[in-house]
Amino acid sequence: MIVVMKKGATQQQIDHMVQRVEQLGLKSHVIYGTERTVIAAIGEKRDEHRQSLESGAGVAEVVPILAPYKVASREVKPEPTVVRAGSLVVGNCHLGMIAGPCSVESAEQTLSIARAVKMAGATALRGGAFKPRTSPYSFQGLKEDGLKILADARAETGLAVVTEVLAATEVSLVGRYADVLQIGARNMQNYRLLEAVGKEGKPVLLKRGPSATMDELLLAAEYVLNAGNPNVMLCERGIRTFETHTRFSLTLASVPYLHDRTHLPVVVDPSHGTGHANLVPRMSAAAVAAGADGLIVEVHPDPETALSDGYQSLTFEQFEALMELCRRVAEAVGKQIAPNEARLAGTA
Ligand code: PEP
Ligand code: MN
Repeated sequence: MIVVMKKGATQQQIDHMVQRVEQLGLKSHVIYGTERTVIAAIGEKRDEHRQSLESGAGVAEVVPILAPYKVASREVKPEPTVVRAGSLVVGNCHLGMIAGPCSVESAEQTLSIARAVKMAGATALRGGAFKPRTSPYSFQGLKEDGLKILADARAETGLAVVTEVLAATEVSLVGRYADVLQIGARNMQNYRLLEAVGKEGKPVLLKRGPSATMDELLLAAEYVLNAGNPNVMLCERGIRTFETHTRFSLTLASVPYLHDRTHLPVVVDPSHGTGHANLVPRMSAAAVAAGADGLIVEVHPDPETALSDGYQSLTFEQFEALMELCRRVAEAVGKQIAPNEARLAGTA
Protein backbone atom coordinates (compact mmCIF):
# COMPACT_ATOMS: atom_id res chain seq x y z
CA MET A 1 0.00 0.00 0.00
CA ILE A 2 1.03 3.60 -0.40
CA VAL A 3 0.12 6.13 2.26
CA VAL A 4 -0.07 9.40 0.35
CA MET A 5 0.40 12.36 2.68
CA LYS A 6 -1.42 15.64 2.08
CA LYS A 7 0.52 18.52 0.56
CA GLY A 8 2.06 20.37 3.49
CA ALA A 9 1.83 17.41 5.91
CA THR A 10 4.19 18.04 8.83
CA GLN A 11 7.28 15.94 9.62
CA GLN A 12 5.59 14.96 12.87
CA GLN A 13 2.59 13.58 10.95
CA ILE A 14 4.92 11.70 8.58
CA ASP A 15 6.88 10.21 11.51
CA HIS A 16 3.65 9.22 13.19
CA MET A 17 2.41 7.41 10.09
CA VAL A 18 5.73 5.59 9.73
CA GLN A 19 5.26 4.39 13.30
CA ARG A 20 1.67 3.31 12.58
CA VAL A 21 2.79 1.36 9.49
CA GLU A 22 5.45 -0.45 11.51
CA GLN A 23 3.04 -1.18 14.36
CA LEU A 24 0.90 -3.03 11.81
CA GLY A 25 3.89 -5.28 11.10
CA LEU A 26 4.63 -3.66 7.71
CA LYS A 27 7.95 -2.33 6.46
CA SER A 28 7.91 1.42 5.81
CA HIS A 29 9.79 3.32 3.15
CA VAL A 30 9.40 7.10 3.02
CA ILE A 31 9.82 8.90 -0.29
CA TYR A 32 10.00 12.67 -0.22
CA GLY A 33 8.83 13.93 -3.61
CA THR A 34 8.77 17.49 -4.85
CA GLU A 35 4.95 17.48 -4.80
CA ARG A 36 4.11 15.16 -1.92
CA THR A 37 5.53 12.67 0.53
CA VAL A 38 4.46 9.06 0.32
CA ILE A 39 5.08 6.14 2.66
CA ALA A 40 5.27 2.75 1.02
CA ALA A 41 3.88 0.17 3.44
CA ILE A 42 5.26 -3.17 2.37
CA GLY A 43 3.94 -6.50 3.55
CA GLU A 44 0.74 -8.47 3.47
CA LYS A 45 -2.14 -6.26 2.36
CA ARG A 46 -5.25 -6.29 4.56
CA ASP A 47 -8.37 -4.13 4.30
CA GLU A 48 -8.39 -3.29 8.01
CA HIS A 49 -4.81 -1.97 7.69
CA ARG A 50 -5.88 0.32 4.92
CA GLN A 51 -8.84 1.68 6.89
CA SER A 52 -6.77 2.25 9.99
CA LEU A 53 -4.03 4.12 8.10
CA GLU A 54 -6.52 6.22 6.16
CA SER A 55 -7.76 7.85 9.35
CA GLY A 56 -4.27 9.17 10.27
CA ALA A 57 -3.68 12.93 10.57
CA GLY A 58 -2.15 14.43 7.43
CA VAL A 59 -3.07 11.43 5.23
CA ALA A 60 -4.62 12.20 1.81
CA GLU A 61 -5.31 8.60 0.76
CA VAL A 62 -4.13 5.02 1.02
CA VAL A 63 -3.89 3.13 -2.27
CA PRO A 64 -2.73 -0.39 -3.15
CA ILE A 65 0.50 -0.79 -5.14
CA LEU A 66 -0.40 -2.98 -8.08
CA ALA A 67 3.10 -3.69 -9.44
CA PRO A 68 5.07 -6.62 -7.95
CA TYR A 69 7.95 -4.23 -7.30
CA LYS A 70 7.01 -1.53 -4.82
CA VAL A 71 9.68 1.06 -4.06
CA ALA A 72 10.87 1.07 -7.70
CA SER A 73 7.40 1.68 -9.09
CA ARG A 74 6.11 4.93 -10.55
CA GLU A 75 2.96 4.50 -8.49
CA VAL A 76 5.02 5.21 -5.37
CA LYS A 77 7.14 8.00 -6.87
CA PRO A 78 5.81 9.63 -10.03
CA GLU A 79 8.75 11.98 -10.58
CA PRO A 80 11.94 10.60 -12.13
CA THR A 81 14.92 9.83 -9.88
CA VAL A 82 18.13 11.67 -10.71
CA VAL A 83 21.27 9.79 -9.65
CA ARG A 84 24.39 11.88 -8.96
CA ALA A 85 27.88 10.52 -8.42
CA GLY A 86 30.57 13.18 -8.67
CA SER A 87 30.77 14.30 -12.31
CA LEU A 88 28.02 11.87 -13.35
CA VAL A 89 24.38 12.99 -13.41
CA VAL A 90 21.81 10.55 -14.78
CA GLY A 91 18.04 10.95 -15.03
CA ASN A 92 15.23 13.29 -15.98
CA CYS A 93 16.78 15.75 -18.46
CA HIS A 94 20.40 14.74 -17.68
CA LEU A 95 22.12 12.34 -20.04
CA GLY A 96 25.11 10.63 -18.39
CA MET A 97 27.90 9.51 -20.71
CA ILE A 98 30.02 6.73 -19.19
CA ALA A 99 32.98 5.61 -21.28
CA GLY A 100 36.18 3.67 -20.86
CA PRO A 101 37.85 0.32 -21.34
CA CYS A 102 36.21 -3.02 -20.74
CA SER A 103 39.16 -3.88 -18.48
CA VAL A 104 41.72 -1.72 -16.73
CA GLU A 105 44.93 -3.08 -18.30
CA SER A 106 47.60 -0.59 -17.17
CA ALA A 107 47.92 2.91 -15.74
CA GLU A 108 49.00 4.26 -19.12
CA GLN A 109 46.09 2.67 -21.01
CA THR A 110 43.47 3.84 -18.49
CA LEU A 111 44.83 7.36 -18.14
CA SER A 112 45.05 7.89 -21.89
CA ILE A 113 41.43 6.70 -22.26
CA ALA A 114 40.24 8.86 -19.36
CA ARG A 115 41.81 11.95 -20.91
CA ALA A 116 40.40 11.22 -24.37
CA VAL A 117 36.84 10.46 -23.28
CA LYS A 118 36.81 13.49 -20.98
CA MET A 119 37.87 15.71 -23.88
CA ALA A 120 35.07 14.27 -25.99
CA GLY A 121 32.50 15.06 -23.27
CA ALA A 122 32.13 11.85 -21.26
CA THR A 123 30.89 12.46 -17.71
CA ALA A 124 32.22 9.26 -16.10
CA LEU A 125 34.95 6.70 -16.60
CA ARG A 126 34.14 2.99 -16.76
CA GLY A 127 36.70 0.21 -16.37
CA GLY A 128 36.65 -3.29 -14.96
CA ALA A 129 39.18 -4.19 -12.27
CA PHE A 130 37.35 -7.36 -11.21
CA LYS A 131 36.27 -9.03 -14.45
CA PRO A 132 33.49 -11.64 -14.72
CA ARG A 133 34.90 -13.81 -17.52
CA THR A 134 33.13 -16.78 -19.06
CA SER A 135 36.39 -18.71 -19.10
CA PRO A 136 38.57 -19.04 -15.99
CA TYR A 137 41.58 -18.91 -18.36
CA SER A 138 40.74 -15.39 -19.64
CA PHE A 139 42.18 -12.20 -18.10
CA GLN A 140 40.48 -11.76 -14.73
CA GLY A 141 41.37 -8.10 -14.13
CA LEU A 142 44.03 -6.26 -12.12
CA LYS A 143 41.82 -6.33 -9.01
CA GLU A 144 42.88 -3.80 -6.32
CA ASP A 145 45.76 -2.52 -8.48
CA GLY A 146 43.15 -1.77 -11.15
CA LEU A 147 41.00 0.11 -8.63
CA LYS A 148 44.01 2.26 -7.70
CA ILE A 149 44.60 3.09 -11.37
CA LEU A 150 40.95 4.14 -11.71
CA ALA A 151 41.23 6.35 -8.62
CA ASP A 152 44.36 7.99 -10.10
CA ALA A 153 42.50 8.62 -13.36
CA ARG A 154 39.68 10.26 -11.39
CA ALA A 155 42.19 12.42 -9.48
CA GLU A 156 43.63 13.68 -12.77
CA THR A 157 40.48 14.09 -14.88
CA GLY A 158 37.73 14.60 -12.30
CA LEU A 159 35.68 11.83 -13.93
CA ALA A 160 33.57 9.69 -11.60
CA VAL A 161 34.58 6.02 -11.63
CA VAL A 162 32.12 3.24 -12.52
CA THR A 163 33.47 -0.24 -11.84
CA GLU A 164 32.07 -3.71 -11.27
CA VAL A 165 31.89 -5.54 -7.97
CA LEU A 166 31.64 -9.30 -8.30
CA ALA A 167 31.15 -10.55 -4.75
CA ALA A 168 29.45 -9.41 -1.55
CA THR A 169 32.75 -9.91 0.29
CA GLU A 170 34.45 -7.36 -2.03
CA VAL A 171 31.85 -4.58 -1.78
CA SER A 172 33.67 -2.57 0.88
CA LEU A 173 37.00 -2.82 -0.99
CA VAL A 174 35.51 -1.71 -4.34
CA GLY A 175 33.41 0.91 -2.54
CA ARG A 176 36.58 2.56 -1.21
CA TYR A 177 37.66 3.43 -4.77
CA ALA A 178 34.49 3.57 -6.90
CA ASP A 179 31.87 6.30 -7.29
CA VAL A 180 29.36 3.88 -8.81
CA LEU A 181 29.20 0.15 -8.12
CA GLN A 182 28.34 -1.83 -11.23
CA ILE A 183 26.44 -5.09 -10.82
CA GLY A 184 27.16 -7.13 -13.92
CA ALA A 185 24.60 -8.98 -15.98
CA ARG A 186 25.74 -12.34 -14.60
CA ASN A 187 25.08 -11.13 -11.06
CA MET A 188 21.72 -9.42 -11.51
CA GLN A 189 20.03 -12.06 -9.40
CA ASN A 190 22.77 -12.47 -6.79
CA TYR A 191 20.51 -11.27 -4.01
CA ARG A 192 23.10 -11.19 -1.22
CA LEU A 193 25.32 -9.01 -3.45
CA LEU A 194 22.37 -6.70 -4.19
CA GLU A 195 21.71 -6.31 -0.47
CA ALA A 196 25.39 -5.65 0.18
CA VAL A 197 25.61 -2.83 -2.38
CA GLY A 198 22.32 -1.51 -1.03
CA LYS A 199 23.89 -1.22 2.41
CA GLU A 200 27.19 0.20 1.13
CA GLY A 201 25.31 3.24 -0.09
CA LYS A 202 27.24 4.22 -3.25
CA PRO A 203 25.09 4.63 -6.40
CA VAL A 204 24.53 1.36 -8.25
CA LEU A 205 24.43 0.57 -11.98
CA LEU A 206 22.37 -2.61 -12.22
CA LYS A 207 22.77 -4.46 -15.50
CA ARG A 208 19.98 -6.60 -16.90
CA GLY A 209 20.70 -10.33 -16.86
CA PRO A 210 20.89 -11.82 -20.38
CA SER A 211 17.75 -13.87 -19.74
CA ALA A 212 15.99 -11.60 -17.25
CA THR A 213 12.52 -10.17 -17.81
CA MET A 214 11.71 -6.54 -17.04
CA ASP A 215 9.91 -7.58 -13.85
CA GLU A 216 12.95 -9.59 -12.72
CA LEU A 217 15.19 -6.57 -13.36
CA LEU A 218 12.88 -4.31 -11.37
CA LEU A 219 12.61 -6.82 -8.53
CA ALA A 220 16.42 -7.03 -8.43
CA ALA A 221 16.52 -3.21 -8.14
CA GLU A 222 14.00 -3.53 -5.33
CA TYR A 223 16.57 -5.49 -3.27
CA VAL A 224 19.00 -2.55 -3.47
CA LEU A 225 16.30 0.03 -2.75
CA ASN A 226 14.96 -1.97 0.18
CA ALA A 227 18.42 -2.09 1.73
CA GLY A 228 18.19 1.72 1.97
CA ASN A 229 19.98 2.83 -1.19
CA PRO A 230 17.75 5.00 -3.44
CA ASN A 231 20.42 5.61 -6.11
CA VAL A 232 19.90 2.82 -8.60
CA MET A 233 20.39 3.08 -12.37
CA LEU A 234 18.96 0.28 -14.49
CA CYS A 235 21.05 -0.81 -17.47
CA GLU A 236 19.74 -2.42 -20.65
CA ARG A 237 22.66 -4.35 -22.15
CA GLY A 238 20.84 -6.77 -24.42
CA ILE A 239 19.48 -10.25 -23.94
CA ARG A 240 20.29 -13.64 -25.41
CA THR A 241 18.02 -14.64 -28.30
CA PHE A 242 18.22 -17.04 -31.27
CA GLU A 243 19.85 -14.25 -33.31
CA THR A 244 23.59 -14.71 -33.73
CA HIS A 245 24.46 -11.68 -35.88
CA THR A 246 24.94 -9.59 -32.79
CA ARG A 247 26.48 -10.69 -29.48
CA PHE A 248 23.17 -10.00 -27.69
CA SER A 249 19.86 -8.54 -28.91
CA LEU A 250 19.64 -4.93 -27.76
CA THR A 251 15.97 -4.45 -26.94
CA LEU A 252 15.57 -0.68 -26.88
CA ALA A 253 11.80 -0.85 -26.27
CA SER A 254 12.77 -1.56 -22.67
CA VAL A 255 13.74 2.11 -22.28
CA PRO A 256 10.25 3.63 -22.71
CA TYR A 257 8.72 0.51 -21.10
CA LEU A 258 10.79 0.99 -17.95
CA HIS A 259 10.16 4.74 -17.92
CA ASP A 260 6.42 4.02 -17.80
CA ARG A 261 6.80 1.70 -14.83
CA THR A 262 9.64 3.04 -12.72
CA HIS A 263 11.08 6.36 -11.63
CA LEU A 264 14.61 4.90 -11.84
CA PRO A 265 16.85 6.13 -14.68
CA VAL A 266 17.70 3.81 -17.56
CA VAL A 267 21.21 3.54 -19.02
CA VAL A 268 21.90 1.67 -22.27
CA ASP A 269 25.05 -0.34 -23.04
CA PRO A 270 25.33 -0.55 -26.84
CA SER A 271 28.81 -2.16 -26.62
CA HIS A 272 27.75 -5.43 -24.98
CA GLY A 273 24.29 -5.05 -26.54
CA THR A 274 25.68 -5.42 -30.06
CA GLY A 275 29.22 -6.80 -29.71
CA HIS A 276 30.33 -4.91 -32.84
CA ALA A 277 32.11 -1.54 -32.73
CA ASN A 278 30.56 -0.45 -36.04
CA LEU A 279 27.03 -0.84 -34.63
CA VAL A 280 27.71 1.05 -31.39
CA PRO A 281 27.40 4.71 -32.55
CA ARG A 282 24.07 4.25 -34.32
CA MET A 283 22.58 2.17 -31.50
CA SER A 284 23.77 4.83 -29.06
CA ALA A 285 21.88 7.46 -31.03
CA ALA A 286 18.83 5.18 -31.12
CA ALA A 287 19.03 4.68 -27.35
CA VAL A 288 19.13 8.45 -26.77
CA ALA A 289 16.18 8.87 -29.15
CA ALA A 290 14.28 6.22 -27.15
CA GLY A 291 14.76 8.35 -24.03
CA ALA A 292 17.77 6.71 -22.37
CA ASP A 293 19.13 8.63 -19.38
CA GLY A 294 22.68 7.52 -20.01
CA LEU A 295 25.02 5.42 -22.12
CA ILE A 296 27.91 3.18 -21.10
CA VAL A 297 30.35 2.64 -23.94
CA GLU A 298 33.63 0.72 -24.25
CA VAL A 299 36.60 2.68 -25.62
CA HIS A 300 40.21 1.54 -26.19
CA PRO A 301 43.25 3.26 -27.75
CA ASP A 302 43.99 0.12 -29.77
CA PRO A 303 40.95 -2.20 -29.80
CA GLU A 304 42.89 -4.95 -31.62
CA THR A 305 45.17 -5.48 -28.63
CA ALA A 306 42.54 -5.08 -25.88
CA LEU A 307 42.63 -7.80 -23.22
CA SER A 308 38.83 -8.07 -23.32
CA ASP A 309 35.99 -7.02 -25.64
CA GLY A 310 38.23 -5.30 -28.23
CA TYR A 311 35.83 -6.17 -31.08
CA GLN A 312 33.14 -3.95 -29.53
CA SER A 313 35.43 -1.14 -28.32
CA LEU A 314 35.58 2.22 -30.06
CA THR A 315 38.75 4.13 -30.89
CA PHE A 316 39.09 7.68 -29.54
CA GLU A 317 38.04 9.14 -32.90
CA GLN A 318 35.00 6.87 -33.11
CA PHE A 319 33.97 7.86 -29.59
CA GLU A 320 34.29 11.54 -30.40
CA ALA A 321 32.03 11.06 -33.42
CA LEU A 322 29.55 9.12 -31.26
CA MET A 323 29.45 12.02 -28.80
CA GLU A 324 28.72 14.51 -31.56
CA LEU A 325 25.94 12.34 -32.96
CA CYS A 326 24.39 11.76 -29.53
CA ARG A 327 24.63 15.43 -28.67
CA ARG A 328 22.44 16.28 -31.65
CA VAL A 329 19.89 13.57 -30.86
CA ALA A 330 19.88 14.58 -27.17
CA GLU A 331 19.06 18.14 -28.10
CA ALA A 332 16.16 16.94 -30.26
CA VAL A 333 14.65 14.93 -27.39
CA GLY A 334 15.20 17.55 -24.69
CA LYS A 335 18.16 16.02 -22.85
CA GLN A 336 21.24 17.84 -21.66
CA ILE A 337 24.62 16.39 -22.37
CA ALA A 338 27.81 17.84 -20.92
CA PRO A 339 29.59 20.31 -23.20
CA ASN A 340 32.61 19.19 -25.20
CA GLU A 341 35.72 20.07 -23.15
CA ALA A 342 37.84 20.60 -26.24
CA ARG A 343 35.27 23.00 -27.61
CA LEU A 344 35.07 24.87 -24.33
CA ALA A 345 38.85 25.19 -24.30
CA GLY A 346 38.70 26.49 -27.87
CA THR A 347 40.87 23.68 -29.24
CA ALA A 348 38.20 22.07 -31.39
C1 PEP B 1 31.21 -5.08 -18.66
O1 PEP B 1 30.57 -4.03 -18.47
O2 PEP B 1 32.40 -5.12 -19.06
C2 PEP B 1 30.49 -6.37 -18.50
C3 PEP B 1 31.12 -7.48 -18.16
O3 PEP B 1 29.18 -6.25 -18.79
P1 PEP B 1 27.95 -7.29 -18.62
O4 PEP B 1 27.86 -7.57 -17.16
O5 PEP B 1 26.79 -6.53 -19.16
O6 PEP B 1 28.27 -8.52 -19.43
MN1 MN C 1 33.18 -5.65 -21.60
